[in-house]
Amino acid sequence: MAKNTLLDEYIDILTSVKSYVEDEIESGFNEVSSTDQIKMPTNPLFNSAGQESEMAFNTMDDIRKAIEECHKCPLYKTRTNMVFGSGNENAKLVFVGEAPGYDEDQQGKPFVGKAGQKLTQIINAIGLSRDEVYITNVLKCRPPNNRNPLPHEIEVCEPFLIAQLQIIKPKIICALGTFAAQTLLKTDQPISKLRGRFHTYQGIKLMPTYHPAFLLRSPKYKKDVWEDVQKVRAEYDKE
Ligand code: URA
Repeated sequence: MAKNTLLDEYIDILTSVKSYVEDEIESGFNEVSSTDQIKMPTNPLFNSAGQESEMAFNTMDDIRKAIEECHKCPLYKTRTNMVFGSGNENAKLVFVGEAPGYDEDQQGKPFVGKAGQKLTQIINAIGLSRDEVYITNVLKCRPPNNRNPLPHEIEVCEPFLIAQLQIIKPKIICALGTFAAQTLLKTDQPISKLRGRFHTYQGIKLMPTYHPAFLLRSPKYKKDVWEDVQKVRAEYDKE
């Protein structure tokens, strides 16, 4: 009994330290660049000159099928379901998150857990519904225990995201958190430096903002996200 309590305490301490370190990185307080640690892929399959990627897809179903059959990283072995994306495939606005968590893996749908509820609130707060926008992730399979995506996983999964974006052709992308923003923008700048202004991704306006899961841990950043999504909404109305 005493042993269990000690172990529980130990796990609690480790969880708090992990959460603290993640928050520090996410907020950019210590200016640690996450990609210094994750080592972003330098040679994505897609290139900005629009040259053909190794994989060619004509429809969303083609992409879905390719992900279902994908064995390019080990995550297919531990997933329950792959998580493709949901919403309007002709959306003007696409939200890109990091990777499926437990609930998403169980249901095969993006952002359906606690962070998903927060994202729904954010979307609703700018007068839109989940059905009007498109929601997807950089990784389509859940990393075990919700660990951060690994560079190789990002490298092999990113072409699916690129293909989705090429078919949807959104006017605006909202990148949720460090991994989505750094992957799409090919930068190692911290999210705190990237957020708050539009960047350009393949001619599309891209607004990085904090991840909804980060907001659950650090609600004081809600104001920043609110400012960012107001800008997204203003741009949405112009398109
Ligand atoms: N976090 C993400 O980045 N994506 C999800 O789908 C759920 C949680």
